[in-house]
Amino acid sequence: MSFRGRFAPSPTGRLHLGNARSALLGWLQARAAGGQFLLRVEDLDRARCRPQYLDDLMRDLEWLGLTWDEPPVFQSARDDAYRDALERLERLGWVYPCFCTRAEIARAASAPHGLSDEGPRYPGTCASLSPTEIAERSRTRTPAYRFRPQPGEVHFVDGLQGPSSQDVAAVVGDFVVRRNDGVASYQLAVVVDDAASRITHVLRGDDLLSSTPRQLQLYAALELPPPQFFHVPLVLGADGKRLAKREGAFALTELRERGLPAERVLGVLAAWSGLGDGSPVALEELVRRFRPETLPRGPVVAQEQTLVEALGLD
Ligand code: GLU
Repeated sequence: MSFRGRFAPSPTGRLHLGNARSALLGWLQARAAGGQFLLRVEDLDRARCRPQYLDDLMRDLEWLGLTWDEPPVFQSARDDAYRDALERLERLGWVYPCFCTRAEIARAASAPHGLSDEGPRYPGTCASLSPTEIAERSRTRTPAYRFRPQPGEVHFVDGLQGPSSQDVAAVVGDFVVRRNDGVASYQLAVVVDDAASRITHVLRGDDLLSSTPRQLQLYAALELPPPQFFHVPLVLGADGKRLAKREGAFALTELRERGLPAERVLGVLAAWSGLGDGSPVALEELVRRFRPETLPRGPVVAQEQTLVEALGLD
């Protein structure tokens, strides 16, 4: 199977140096393998997505030379595919309608733990409603749909982080695949789209490492082949906070609009990736230097002053 990688940003903010590094590494990984690289726009969260962010991020990628080989896929246009997948999961008995409100879940949850992106572990209130109860509740509230994971540890080997495992049923519980406003959840959409685009390698920030076991459960339930995963550690500021969370965080658009040469930004991204000493570098040179086995595994700490100097900002 030929290599197909992708970058899947959400246009909910400006692209910063940290996610530009993930895009660069994914792109280099695909190029080094003689494969293809795709762009998918994860714009399901309509309230937070802005056309301006999308426009900026596409220009930023083009500016760095990180081209994509097929027209971008927009998640906002893929609802039919998500509905088909949901129907399939429903037919096979993997999902059930859930009528709980957030407040009800918070009240019923026995422990506040769980994963921060899912909230408290779902206590299973709607897990075994009868058809009559479902019909009755549907009259007053549109349900969300929850996926019932297989019990037990999900093991997988991340290409960078090594062996990893998580008991999804115990830690996360039954998780949402369609919200009650009818929008597919990130977990379902990412699996349906990566499978539809025949993605073989997913390289992304390690903040999504804990989502991977949920996604692997969905691949198994939908009988789809999962890609290989490569989770790159995030770039942190000297204070230990994610670069993305810091004010400004060296947004690409700003650097581009200031007229900085793209090679300077690539020099910084290369230094964070074991591919250079921070001096300006052309993308073609990085293609020559890149070796898949040297993909970074440890966290990177960005010193603000070093960054300012490397980028030639005043
Ligand atoms: N859209 C997600 C983000 O920007 C990335 C999803 C993924 O790479 O699987 O964090």
